[in-house]
Amino acid sequence: MSSPILTPSADLKGQKIIITGGGIGGAAGALALSLRGADVTLYERAPEFKEVGAGLQIGPHGVKMLEKWGLKERVIDAGYLPERMQFRDAITTEPILTMDFGEDFQQHYGGQYLVIHRSDLLSILVEAAQKAGATLHNGVKVLGADTREDGVTVHIEKTADGVREDVEGDLLVGFDGTHSVFRKEIAQDEPVPSAYVAYRGTSELPQDPDMKDLKDVVGYIGPRCHFIQYPLRGGELLNQVAVFQSPRYLEALTEGTEVPEDWGNNEEFKDAFNHTNEFIQGRLGSMWLNTWWQMADREPLDNWVVSDRIIVMGDAAHPPLQYLASGAVMAMEDAECLALYASQAAEQGELNWGEVLAEVSGERAPRCARIQTTGRFWGELWHVDGVSRLIRNETFRQAERGGWYRYADWLWDYDAERREYLKDPSKGELPEALKEWEYNIHKVVAQREEGRPAEELTI
Ligand SMILES: Cc1cc2nc3c(=O)[nH]c(=O)nc-3n(C[C@H](O)[C@H](O)[C@H](O)COP(=O)(O)OP(=O)(O)OC[C@H]3O[C@@H](n4cnc5c(N)ncnc54)[C@H](O)[C@@H]3O)c2cc1C
Repeated sequence: MSSPILTPSADLKGQKIIITGGGIGGAAGALALSLRGADVTLYERAPEFKEVGAGLQIGPHGVKMLEKWGLKERVIDAGYLPERMQFRDAITTEPILTMDFGEDFQQHYGGQYLVIHRSDLLSILVEAAQKAGATLHNGVKVLGADTREDGVTVHIEKTADGVREDVEGDLLVGFDGTHSVFRKEIAQDEPVPSAYVAYRGTSELPQDPDMKDLKDVVGYIGPRCHFIQYPLRGGELLNQVAVFQSPRYLEALTEGTEVPEDWGNNEEFKDAFNHTNEFIQGRLGSMWLNTWWQMADREPLDNWVVSDRIIVMGDAAHPPLQYLASGAVMAMEDAECLALYASQAAEQGELNWGEVLAEVSGERAPRCARIQTTGRFWGELWHVDGVSRLIRNETFRQAERGGWYRYADWLWDYDAERREYLKDPSKGELPEALKEWEYNIHKVVAQREEGRPAEELTI
């Protein structure tokens, strides 16, 4: 069940490709395009390649690509292969759904399930991209770009001294994150805060008497909150993520008042898990308190093409909520899809970037829209209360008994080579059974705009 390792080619030889953004998406883009022979230059505005935060879950849809790029052994050495994913009820801690990542799973999805420290994955991708021939610069901010008939002129600025320069290329790929300079040219939208905030933390796993035998990804899901644990770095580190709904954000949203900048702060964190099991409450002491992540996504886009020579990808195109653990994987899928379609076009004759970008956007935009929308739904399902929680738990148990692959196949069994979303863009929509569902945040905003009183608006 292993994917073949890509043989480097010269399909894109002579193509000068500029990437803006050196996160996981940009680094993966530099690698995938360099492996096809392109002359890649990447600009990252930060002084070093660095990821903030801790663990990342990489499903088989991501591991297959890392394997194709020849990095499987390295990421497994640096990361951890959990045996299972356990969903547990956050009030009782009882297991409600266990997903086994053993042999059968690996055969079914053609890849393993990996967890890895963000900075380890980024370092591996950066090093591999450099080895494949890409040139990566830090401390360079991309200010904008002009499309010419035969290429693109990119305006850059060195952050150390403010010196500006123009660079010429055949293509610009905007992997510049959720506040992308280039997204603004195709969408005048703002991030959509979810009212949920994440606290993270890592600690020594072998020294932790209660957790030292942990071999799984465990997610305790409960009313308005959840708590995730998994090992990292071969079991040396314990990664924990505590997520809850911010009452102060909610109040501002429903009352239409100004949102406090520090919503989800330590004051709110202190009480956010009081209704959960004492096991979870006992674990919160090791979370980092000096920083927290206000979770937001953006509305899905149906086009990522800025011009015949510019495209946005990764979080610049599709920042998701984190519930399907696929934001970084989608960025890697984007990178591989672009490199694959461009090299296939080059192999078949003359490379037309306008046509390649349209094809890439046609395949990737519906795929990522489905992940973004389903992520919103999945998060709401995790956080339900009362009778809905009991029904949710029973539904999860039934999914385990009746076989859960059918719910995950669309996400984890993906290969851009099949062009399945290009052939049928309706695959990007939610399945028929969920069509009536409406995102809570949309509902509240719509009700407020209708003039409904604040006390009637609930999430
Ligand atoms: C709590 C949480 C948990 C998550 N868990 C998972 C998970 O388990 N699995 C998963 O797959 N994903 C997960 N994600 C999502 C994932 O982290 C992101 O989707 C992914 O890292 C996005 O990568 P990116 O390279 O597209 O963007 P970014 O990581 O945002 O990188 C963009 C880069 O561009 C640079 N940049 C921006 N503007 C400029 C400019 N003008 N010039 C030059 N450089 C610029 C920035 O400095 C940055 O380095 C999670 C996210 C969160 C918040």
